[in-house]
Amino acid sequence: MNGTVYLVGAGPGDPGLLTCRGREIIERADVVVYDRLIGAELLELCRAEAEKIFVGKEAARHALPQEEINELLTARALEGKSVCRLKGGDPFVFGRGGEEALHCLERGVRFEIVPGVSSSIAAPAYAGIPVTHREVATSFAVVTGHTKDDDAPPDSLPEADTLVFLMGVRALGKIVRALLAKGRAPATPVALVRWGTTAQQEVVVGTLETIEADVERAGLEPPALIVVGEVVRLRERLGWFDNRPLWGQTVVVTRAREQASGLVTALRERGARVIQCPTIRIEPLVDCSTCDDALARLPEFDWVVFTSTNGVEQGWKRLQRLGLDARAFAANKIAAIGPATVESLNARGLVPDFVPEQSMSERVGEGLLAQGAKNVLILRALEGREALQATLQAGGCETTLAPCYRTVPDAAEAESVRTLLAQGALDWVTFSSSSTVRNFIDAIGEEAVKSARGTFRVAVIGPVTAETARECGLEPDVEAAKAGIDELAQALEQSTRRPKEP
Ligand code: SAH
Repeated sequence: MNGTVYLVGAGPGDPGLLTCRGREIIERADVVVYDRLIGAELLELCRAEAEKIFVGKEAARHALPQEEINELLTARALEGKSVCRLKGGDPFVFGRGGEEALHCLERGVRFEIVPGVSSSIAAPAYAGIPVTHREVATSFAVVTGHTKDDDAPPDSLPEADTLVFLMGVRALGKIVRALLAKGRAPATPVALVRWGTTAQQEVVVGTLETIEADVERAGLEPPALIVVGEVVRLRERLGWFDNRPLWGQTVVVTRAREQASGLVTALRERGARVIQCPTIRIEPLVDCSTCDDALARLPEFDWVVFTSTNGVEQGWKRLQRLGLDARAFAANKIAAIGPATVESLNARGLVPDFVPEQSMSERVGEGLLAQGAKNVLILRALEGREALQATLQAGGCETTLAPCYRTVPDAAEAESVRTLLAQGALDWVTFSSSSTVRNFIDAIGEEAVKSARGTFRVAVIGPVTAETARECGLEPDVEAAKAGIDELAQALEQSTRRPKEP
């Protein structure tokens, strides 16, 4: 609502832990005011016109003094804007949300609180530590490690079984001594969780006696929280996030951004840190006349083939331009190259009549010939493989190519990936089509790829991509058992040795 300040909890870091209400507000806000612990992915949800204002480091050490943040929020709201104050975790858990709300009240500005998933619970959870557990801990308390503008815990510590200290890394020594002085056993387990719930999560486990040395050895820096109590022992069995099969692996995805999300999710769910390096971009054609002409006379073809989801999406755009809809295909049988393309067609109300067992142009061609195809329309990229057309023509079938989009090289991420490659920081490069192989090498440079070859492994989606990779001097290390995004992620999983146990 205009003129309102929303104090929104952004969650602990994993963008998936933002609440539905929080998302709604970010997407609509005119102004978004945020601090250091907010991930870039959440800011991408903002409207392009939204004013994004960075105000500081973290709760206790603001770049902009709290009073100025307060004034900024109400001033924008009084201009009639919808203001989203985005805070890490929960706004009322050491987030100074209460102060901001009181200031709104003082200025007569409407406000709303959107609680968030607090790091105090979520970071332990992602480290496999439940803050309470039957018979182990019946209470927990969240405590600050930063009081009176000093790195120190409060003078009197709560009696809870589990203690979670926020902003406490620099006060670790003081916290340990305070707990020992209070009578906690030196053998009490302690864990520090840094950047919990993100791909950078780091966990150090020790006891009150050892933890300072453990942290020093690990070189652990803020932001991290400290969990103290017997529940820490459960991590050994309940650790799930940082021992997933691809944890610790940095994987490059070379698909076009428009298509990458399936593979990115499949890899992330297995624990990988994903670097997107799209080397091609999908663009509409300047001259669409061939495609439009074919779409205008669809009944002349007995079969229409879609060779990618892009073909469906871009073909559909042309169809709509011509004022047509799904009924235009009433006279045609429809073939799709694989499951993703089938899904795209289904979403538009079409159920393909033929899908090959193996997602390859040759198999589509053979399948259509077996079905007695005579006159086939192929909707695809301007620069596609000729195999489908060749197979059909060799079988005496007439073919028409209708290019409905083109793929153009995209080098936006090349520089940063080249740097990572040179540092040996990449574990895998994935290729999901022949064009991604060629474009990757063009974008990064043959020399740069070759000289780093020993430091990363190559995963390909299927035999055709494998062949192209070989021709380009990149012998694939693994190949998906079946051409498919999930199978590709599976192949990486199987050939990555399980990392050391947490
Ligand atoms: N309102 C926030 C806490 C703000 S205080 C919440 O509810 O989570 C900032 C402190 O929170 C940091 O110094 C650190 O101790 C902790 N913290 C925030 N995000 C964290 C994360 N992803 N992993 C570990 N600790 C985190």
